[in-house]
Amino acid sequence: MSKTGFPAAARRELADAQMRHNVGKATSTIRARRAARVAEVPDWQALRDAGAAIKARAMATLPEQLERLEASVTRAGGQVHWARDAAECNAIVSGIARGHGAREVIKVKSLATDEIGMNAALAADGVEAIETDLAELINQLGHDTSSHILVPAIHRNRAEIKQLFERTIARGQDLGWEPKALAEASRRHLREKFLSVPVATSGANFAVAETGTIGVVESEGNGRMCLTLPQVLITVMGIEKVLPEWRDLEVFVQLLPRSATGERMNPYTSLWTGVRADDGPQEFHLVLLDNGRTDVLADEVGRSALHCIRCSACLNSCPVYSRVGGHAYESVYPGPIGAILTPQLRGLDQAPTLPYASSLCGACYEVCPVKIDIPSVLLHLRGRVVREYKSKRSPEALAMEAVGRVFASQGLYERAQKLARLGHGPIATAALPGWSSMRGLPEVPEQTFREWWRSRPPGRAQGDGSAP
Ligand code: SF4
Repeated sequence: MSKTGFPAAARRELADAQMRHNVGKATSTIRARRAARVAEVPDWQALRDAGAAIKARAMATLPEQLERLEASVTRAGGQVHWARDAAECNAIVSGIARGHGAREVIKVKSLATDEIGMNAALAADGVEAIETDLAELINQLGHDTSSHILVPAIHRNRAEIKQLFERTIARGQDLGWEPKALAEASRRHLREKFLSVPVATSGANFAVAETGTIGVVESEGNGRMCLTLPQVLITVMGIEKVLPEWRDLEVFVQLLPRSATGERMNPYTSLWTGVRADDGPQEFHLVLLDNGRTDVLADEVGRSALHCIRCSACLNSCPVYSRVGGHAYESVYPGPIGAILTPQLRGLDQAPTLPYASSLCGACYEVCPVKIDIPSVLLHLRGRVVREYKSKRSPEALAMEAVGRVFASQGLYERAQKLARLGHGPIATAALPGWSSMRGLPEVPEQTFREWWRSRPPGRAQGDGSAP
């Protein structure tokens, strides 16, 4: 689907009542579960501070941490590759897979590989990428795209999934309505792949520079299968996922499950370091992906978007996301984090409407486990969009210039108020181009405070409580 910008895409999505119901129900359930689990932790705010500090340190020393990581992974028997962009990264992955004669690769759910369109790039080279996460599999079978960081098929309900499976992997069967039966159908379909496909790809939640350990956090066990059974493992990791020290993991394995799925601990946390004889994959490749991240790092305010640990708490708490769903953001990163990350990764000119996809209510900041001040970054990016890409002579800019002059002068302001009362002038209820398309202007009062003050009888003391 071609990209239309957030306002048009949101209007399109809002027309889908079933999607709105599915997303609203799912996000309110996860939101309540997260709140209950977070309330159990007395030092939650201290944990958030620690997470934010670790991420800030990692980003401030990123070149050093990446070199440490490369050395540690290589020492442990892995191979490290550097990819500047999507094309380079896909070529590396495809080259390794084809070098092993693979016609198929099994995949652990990974936003980084979705960001670079890896499945399509591999398909063009004759290699099929098979999604093994249940929700990603649902999207793949339905030729659909993800609409949530953690629950990619959140826009689908059980009836839709049952029908999809009965058309595809369980053709001709009646699976019934139990979630267990639907999961079992996907399990039967995937088990054979886990045991026969020689190459797996994954993303990474964390990579520890000190030890060269990579971490993947997931809930279904499919990831554990992909990370242990195939002979070759290729991990594609955004460079911002590096953590300096092993002990840093302690903070994130507490923050992530509670923020993400509202669980006390994560069901499957897989950690591996290089390769080990006769145990797990015998060849391990780590591809370090930039794809715009160093540009994000150059923006002193915007760079905090790189601290994200992809928990999705900001999506579930966002009143905009909960109504329009993830497809309106036209990116693998939807919701508040997508509104600040996507325009920076792609370039602001490629997604100039996304920083406006927010009510600025602040709910995303309150729940973010690493304290990313998303509302402030949104305002910063809006400023950049106006300064760098909107024409200085646009009707909105000219109107704002005129209003600015009026607001800067008491005399002009008072005359404008009088005119406004007559229904003329820049602060009348007439529309200001652009600005008032989404906002209402207040009614102009019959008498301003200054007029009332001047009209009072002489000699009355201030603050005598006689205001009309
Ligand atoms: S911005 Fe914060 S709340 Fe949102 S996904 Fe990232 S870590 Fe989670």
